[in-house]
Amino acid sequence: MLKVYNTLTRKKEEFKPRKDKEVGIYTCGPTVYNHAHIGNLRAYVFADTLFRYLKFAGYKVKWVMNITDVDDKTIRDSKKAGVSLKEFTEKYEKLFFEDIEKLNINKKEFFKIPKATKYMKEMQELVKVLLDKEIAYIKDGSIYFNIQKYIDSGHKYGKLLKIDMANFKRGERVEADEYEKENVQDFVLWKAKKESNEPSWDFKIEGKNYPGRPGWHIECSAMSRKNLGNPFDIHTGGVDLIFPHHEDEIAQTEGAYDVPIANYFMHNEHLLVENQKMSKSLGNFYVLEDITKFGKPLAFRLLALQTHYREKLNFTKDSMLQAEVALTRVYEFIRKLLWVEKTGQKDRVSFLLKKVEKEFSVAIADDLSTPRALASLWESIAKINKLIDEGLLNKKEANLFYDFFLKIDRVLGLGLDEVLQPKIDPTIVGLINKYKKATVNKDYETKDKIRTEFNKLGYKIEDTKYGIPRITFLGEK
Ligand SMILES: [Zn+2]
Repeated sequence: MLKVYNTLTRKKEEFKPRKDKEVGIYTCGPTVYNHAHIGNLRAYVFADTLFRYLKFAGYKVKWVMNITDVDDKTIRDSKKAGVSLKEFTEKYEKLFFEDIEKLNINKKEFFKIPKATKYMKEMQELVKVLLDKEIAYIKDGSIYFNIQKYIDSGHKYGKLLKIDMANFKRGERVEADEYEKENVQDFVLWKAKKESNEPSWDFKIEGKNYPGRPGWHIECSAMSRKNLGNPFDIHTGGVDLIFPHHEDEIAQTEGAYDVPIANYFMHNEHLLVENQKMSKSLGNFYVLEDITKFGKPLAFRLLALQTHYREKLNFTKDSMLQAEVALTRVYEFIRKLLWVEKTGQKDRVSFLLKKVEKEFSVAIADDLSTPRALASLWESIAKINKLIDEGLLNKKEANLFYDFFLKIDRVLGLGLDEVLQPKIDPTIVGLINKYKKATVNKDYETKDKIRTEFNKLGYKIEDTKYGIPRITFLGEK
């Protein structure tokens, strides 16, 4: 049984999907005007882990993530770059997927990746329903959502943030907008075209055209409805999206169709850099490329999993270096499991396997407690490593653990299956055997030669007091 923390109820709840074995997830995707920073990437690692876990638990999962390819920033920066909006956003969309693929978030796994510019019809339909219900109004060619009318028609605004409307300071939290508004809380659904060279789409309402482009919030309401229906199961995003973005998504969908947008909202916390908010002015604004100086992209994935998604993740150079070391240790461990050759049927470890299996599944099912799941894995790795070094683990036992680690990596996504297998090449296995033989024969010259060979292949081989050589992976070559 999976329990998740639902921002709508502020409680950990048992997860009950709408359909028996099918789950729909919607994740607010990137605005493609720049590289995704590591705070954004953390949000996608979280959503991907949720997706992986649900699949692992036997659900058919439809995961939808949008691409915001039209908004103020994309328009502003494409103009600056002197290229079309399409060319500009496609470039950053490509870079985004390159980044997340490095984190083992596979583009092919998404059910749909809707782009705002391809959903004008759906967004306009939604806006029209809101206009018909008079929850939206037109002013100076733009269309706004009327929060007071929404409340007057029996809805509650502020389901996630628990805003006390009576004490809510009007205008305090709403994003600055150049357009005139009747009410500062009202947000824009459709922005009128401002300049002649600005990208815009026709929007005909009762025979009159309102050229413009969608507001940001309307995208997610329209695209999630089209691809998943309402309510869908889980909406994910960073805590920074709770207000106003998700609050406004809820208002749009409920205002138009009198149905909740989603049953569960799951939000991941911020990422800090050296305990400070990441910002360009502080010079601590990192994208994936910046941090791979300290470790592989998958080390960042591991780092993200080491902190619970609802806790602030404090990124430091040291934490990344440590994650790299930890990841390399797991890789080494998996390789060692494959190299165990001891025969025998005696089973010393099934109790250990059962324990770690149970701890892992209990931790993950408890609101995706990846730190607890990882702690249990580290503990079992230390124990098994010791058994291997002492020559006590047999091939059959080693295989059981190998299978277990590959199985749970379907949730963790640390690349244990894809990264490792091709690397266990027969050359290495052959060299290990030669090394062992040379040890027995006290043939030090051959051992030296093999050590050099290993170094060239990116490994270090050394003697242990138990007679079984220890092989250390030195890093990707
Ligand atoms: Zn969204």
